[in-house]
Amino acid sequence: MRVVLASRNAKKLAELRRILAPQIPDIEVLGLDDVESFDEPAETEPTFEGNALIKARACLEATGLPSLADDSGLCVDALNGMPGVLSARWSGDGDQANNDLLLLQIGDVPDERRTAQFRCAVALCVPGGGEFIEQGEMKGRILRGTQGDGGFGYDPLFAADGHDVSTAELTPQEKDLISHRGKALRAIAPHVIEALRN
Ligand code: IMP
Repeated sequence: MRVVLASRNAKKLAELRRILAPQIPDIEVLGLDDVESFDEPAETEPTFEGNALIKARACLEATGLPSLADDSGLCVDALNGMPGVLSARWSGDGDQANNDLLLLQIGDVPDERRTAQFRCAVALCVPGGGEFIEQGEMKGRILRGTQGDGGFGYDPLFAADGHDVSTAELTPQEKDLISHRGKALRAIAPHVIEALRN
């Protein structure tokens, strides 16, 4: 019962294991560090779904195992949905610089127009040709400064709807419940279970 998540991110692997293990106790979730290395495609698509799909397809082709891949990012309404698929590379200089640049870019945007969403697409490609895509979204707003030191990426600048604190101030379990990635992974889980049964 093996499935590969096309990622080296230990937090993403742990999250997927937490979601799948209760439903498939003997499942083994491998990451890219657990399989023979292969040419990983660049994230060249303009959509989260497109990037997730090319990564999952390449992983299936290389490993022959059911393969999952995700792509995610922050879409800021006042920036017409940017940084979007460019979230990781927005400043070209890592998380701290990405947060600084975003704050600068929406510095004069009033509170009521600082709305944003984290989005995530997860693709599953199974041997024999089946392809599935699920998406998740977490709506919220961009704060006026960083808050908290948990999470990663833009978490210190983002407060989810219904929360006064940033997502960097939530526990991992609290964030999993409401996050774009948690929602997308929970939605893809039944397809993984079905694929492993066949
Ligand atoms: P990827 O899906 O791992 O390529 O992540 C894309 C980028 O989106 C990350 O590098 C972060 O900048 C941002 N991002 C995606 N999900 C989150 C999240 O849950 N919190 C904070 N930033 C995120």
